[in-house]
Amino acid sequence: MPDPITHFAVPFIAMRLLKKDYKIAVLAGVVGILPDFDVLSRIHRSVTHSIVLHITIIAILACILILSKVKSNIRKWILIAVAFGLISHSVMDMFYDYTPILYPILQHDILIHVDVSIHIQEGQIPQILPKLEILLRETNFTSFINFEASLTTGQTIIISALLLFTVLTEEIYNGINNKRIKLSRKEV
Ligand SMILES: [Zn+2]
Repeated sequence: MPDPITHFAVPFIAMRLLKKDYKIAVLAGVVGILPDFDVLSRIHRSVTHSIVLHITIIAILACILILSKVKSNIRKWILIAVAFGLISHSVMDMFYDYTPILYPILQHDILIHVDVSIHIQEGQIPQILPKLEILLRETNFTSFINFEASLTTGQTIIISALLLFTVLTEEIYNGINNKRIKLSRKEV
């Protein structure tokens, strides 16, 4: 974790909950995967994971949308979807591995390591052992020769599927309800 399914599912579900619009949710989900296409340039967790670059992209996109004829409400949601997709990607990665999230302002990759474990031993009070570390490593964008990474795991699939199921079930239920209301109005 986080793999492409998580990077799609988190912004997709967030947008579905914030705005009941599939296109905006799909946009956020797709944008959420984009930073990892840096592997095509043989550098993983490259500048595409920098929030500084994300803000620049969002600012340029905002200017393009303002100059276009897109309605202000749609414009706002496009920008929120793109921002959420990009930024959520880097934030999630930062809790998993070293990520150049503030590059070039900070020329160090950041890894936030959180681990809360429990220790139980006979005759002793159970102990909760929390651990929080913020680790820094000098940023180094060198090309890799070999690259191997998990595209997904059973854990990710089931978590994402359950979350998507919750969101989609509500949608299906509302759709059926609306149809029933329409039909009953016609009968009256
Ligand atoms: Zn990534």
